[in-house]
Amino acid sequence: MLRVAVVGSGPSGVYTAQALVQQSLVPDVHVDVLDRLPCPYGLVRYGVAPDHEKIKSLQNNLRTVLEDERIGFIGNVEVGAHGLAPARLLELYHAVVYCVGAARDRRLGVPGEDLPGSCSATDFVSWYSAHPDAAPNGFALGGARSAVVIGVGNVAVDVTRILARGAAELLPTDVPHAALGALAQSGVREVHMVGRRGPSQAKFTTKELRELGGLPDAAVGVEPSDLELDPGYADPSGLPAVNRRNVDVVRGWASGSVPSSPGAPGAPGTAGERAASRRIHLRFFLRPVELLEGDGRVAGVRFERTVPDGSGGVRGTGMYEEIEAQLVLRAVGYRGVPLEGLPFDAARGTVPNEAGRVLRGGVPSPGEYVAGWIKRGPTGVIGSNRPCAKETVTSLLADAAELWARPLAGEPLDVLRELGHRPVEWPGWLAIEEAEAALGRSLGRRSVKIADWAGLLEAAAPGMEAPGAEVGAPPKLPAA
Ligand code: NAP
Repeated sequence: MLRVAVVGSGPSGVYTAQALVQQSLVPDVHVDVLDRLPCPYGLVRYGVAPDHEKIKSLQNNLRTVLEDERIGFIGNVEVGAHGLAPARLLELYHAVVYCVGAARDRRLGVPGEDLPGSCSATDFVSWYSAHPDAAPNGFALGGARSAVVIGVGNVAVDVTRILARGAAELLPTDVPHAALGALAQSGVREVHMVGRRGPSQAKFTTKELRELGGLPDAAVGVEPSDLELDPGYADPSGLPAVNRRNVDVVRGWASGSVPSSPGAPGAPGTAGERAASRRIHLRFFLRPVELLEGDGRVAGVRFERTVPDGSGGVRGTGMYEEIEAQLVLRAVGYRGVPLEGLPFDAARGTVPNEAGRVLRGGVPSPGEYVAGWIKRGPTGVIGSNRPCAKETVTSLLADAAELWARPLAGEPLDVLRELGHRPVEWPGWLAIEEAEAALGRSLGRRSVKIADWAGLLEAAAPGMEAPGAEVGAPPKLPAA
């Protein structure tokens, strides 16, 4: 039997496992999908926004794959911890495919970036997604009136939308209770989403952008003087389809021809003259140069006005604009992090590879592969991981005869336990799901995510970790 470990149970890991068991070249194959967390699904569970239920429901497809009898889930096992270096893992499996994603946020590199109140959007997403590494009470939003979101990609749209939604709209989702309480207390009324280039160059996709205009209690506004700077806005005919559609949506908001929410009259060129509790300001051609301080916290962002440089980029103009903000979220992309024992291309934030084969010193390393963001960088939608995984599996299968010949050093689960790991297998994950359903019932909500390590491990295997799942007193929530 060909024994393969897939490290990471997000979409790229699960699609890799699926491609491995669905092929016919090597019929006798077993795949263990390992994850650092006791829960599977990676960014589908901990990155897709709670109000994106359709995308979230992709978990059902991933579940079907992980329930295949030729696939095992081994959670709560961190490669790199307890002596489980990549070299050790390779003694237990004929092949290892790293699907570990791009775990860190990129930084701006401007003064004031680390002021209290300035955070990465990744941290904010982790918090409202109940990632156990995020502090459950990490964001107190009561003192903030205005937020600046830096970047105009889909993560920026997600965090803008969550800030602009009322907590009541999130009550039916699985958002953790502490985060829901903080959102209910939120004083944020103005959200500025700011791009350094123009609307025709923004990275968001149209469906996500359009959704901002459909929020029940938020108005969207754009600044006509920002739009005029963009040649692609004036003449979108040569743009790729997605950028053209984005421009159409922005143009609709600018002209007021598209109401910023159903039934709303719209507000030409302004941030919503109609009555709405919150306003979203879409801004362009502003690049952050400094986060401003007031009373020891972030108080605003200083931007330099940019103009197109004629070759797709922008140049500064020496003109500045400040936007007040008590909360600043930088949503300027993810980056991969090195895994000790694996080669790493720091400039690209990926593991060097050739069609998924890990390269050590420029030469394929037998038995080591990558797929997903750690292979190609943090781009594309969830579905992009499918062809990416297939390519890697094709390489692996071409190498299978050689890999198979190598003797292995014991039963992986036994060895992991000997090393001091405490694996959570599939039944443990199902127990977590059941505990989350029970938590939801006890709070009068649907399934609610457990947001801390102790609570997750206690649910997976009572006694595994000292009890202490800090659910806390239910916060004051609005009526649904
Ligand atoms: P992204 O799509 O790469 O967008 C990053 C944004 O940050 C861009 O607007 C970029 O501007 C800007 N930026 C980068 N460096 C900057 C700097 N120093 N100063 C100011 N702005 C800066 O990254 P992302 O939003 O993190 O998304 C990552 C991936 O996840 C994408 O493929 C995305 O589609 C996907 N995703 C999808 C969904 C969904 O489908 N609903 C949700 C979330 C994420 P420039 O273009 O000028 O560089």
